[in-house]
Amino acid sequence: MEKNEAKNLVIRAGHELVAEGLIARTWGNISCRISDEEFVITPSGKSYEDLVPSEIVPVRIDDCSWSGTVRPSSEKAVHSALYRLHPEANFIIHTHQYYATAIGATGRSLRGYDAFYREVLGRCVPCAEYGISTTQPLADAVEAAAALYPEAQAILMRNHGVVCIGVDYESAFNAARKLEELCRIKYSDLTGLTDLPENFIPGTPAAAGKVHYREVGGRTYAFLKSPFVRRLAQAGGADESAENGSDLFSKMSRPFGGGAGPLGGAADGKPGMAGRVVKHPLGSRLAPLGKSLPAYIDDCAQMAGASIRVLPAEASGSDMARALMHAPMVFVRNKGAVCVGADREEADAACMVLEKNAMAAYVCRLLDEGKPVGGAAAMAENLIYRFKYSKLKNS
Ligand SMILES: [Zn+2]
Repeated sequence: MEKNEAKNLVIRAGHELVAEGLIARTWGNISCRISDEEFVITPSGKSYEDLVPSEIVPVRIDDCSWSGTVRPSSEKAVHSALYRLHPEANFIIHTHQYYATAIGATGRSLRGYDAFYREVLGRCVPCAEYGISTTQPLADAVEAAAALYPEAQAILMRNHGVVCIGVDYESAFNAARKLEELCRIKYSDLTGLTDLPENFIPGTPAAAGKVHYREVGGRTYAFLKSPFVRRLAQAGGADESAENGSDLFSKMSRPFGGGAGPLGGAADGKPGMAGRVVKHPLGSRLAPLGKSLPAYIDDCAQMAGASIRVLPAEASGSDMARALMHAPMVFVRNKGAVCVGADREEADAACMVLEKNAMAAYVCRLLDEGKPVGGAAAMAENLIYRFKYSKLKNS
């Protein structure tokens, strides 16, 4: 494909994937082959909404080399490995989509699904071993899975996300979309949950009433009762009848609001927000949270480190504020969670990651499968994130 045409297609793909909730912020990356030797790929650390063609970077397939002033995505080695193994592939999408990422955290591969999905995804969606993001071991793990299953059009990346391969943009996009559908069904089968949300993106109608915000001291606090955060926070039996969002927010907002009154429904004009927990047979097997919830996905390890702290239900506001000085998210048992960021966008990003980690943790804990990212890897992820993020902020 001609270079400029490919660059514009990558930009269009970014917009469409964001619109469908398959990618967000600067997570994930997209590439298009332009010859036997080269592909073009999204840049490192730029949000998809305002990409321009000059920021889509040509990269060589054989050695990942590139030139110019815009850095290509740090997962370019994953793309180049797949273009080498798949001469027919012209488009590759890497996402951190919700259900596929959660299933990937269990370490399970997908197989034995309907012909409808087989046509798009191939007979199997393998799960690649874990590798720290942006590193060669991650690219090697994906390459090994792709080599073992040459027919697979999608690969789960353990504790991370997925990568989808297509002969063209439409087929790669379709693989990402169908994979998410399939994983949502699989997630429901594995957990017994029948009321699964499509995804959880703060600011969208699906998330309305699940996140309430408060700006204090130049930071934005987000009080979160999204579906999986709620399920984990209340695992082991909360008093459901007494729980509702307003309780949570009024209690939590006191230390942040400086006595300005309850944050609750009233502050957002949404009184009586429901915090209902749907009971189901498998969910009651879920053990209550201990003092922390491990990071089951890289995004979470990057933002919060190896685990997210869990405060007791009776934690005071200053306990929460203190915990939020060390990490941007904290659970409060039986209640929900609080996230914080420099602005609403950052607070939303923390909410999204927290919910995604809760989804992955929920299925892993329920099945007693999968393993968290773990200490050393989580520390490395956290450092990479801080380094990249501080550079972005200063650029
Ligand atoms: Zn990624």
